[in-house]
Amino acid sequence: MGLTRCYSSEKPVLVVSWTPENPGRRFYGCTNYWVRRKCKYFQWRDDEICERGKVLIPEQRQQILTLEADIVGYRKREKRLLICLGLSLVISGMLLCLMLLLVG
Ligand SMILES: [Zn+2]
Repeated sequence: MGLTRCYSSEKPVLVVSWTPENPGRRFYGCTNYWVRRKCKYFQWRDDEICERGKVLIPEQRQQILTLEADIVGYRKREKRLLICLGLSLVISGMLLCLMLLLVG
């Protein structure tokens, strides 16, 4: 598939489609399309998605987004737990010192 110049002689950009009919399918489009919808240059880069892919790709994409959101949550929780752990170590150390002073 040759990359031709568009009607407004701009260099077309590679974009990923996320419509239900074409999930993850790449195409070349003109930057002017999004700016003024002046140029209608459009050319698919990838072959058509098979029927199974049309179901599977959006499902997996949604799963990835969910898992990524989970990771962000777990990282925040890990940070809070580490702070708690650090604080309890400091408090334990202080109590130990106090006990040693009282005993000694
Ligand atoms: Zn154009």
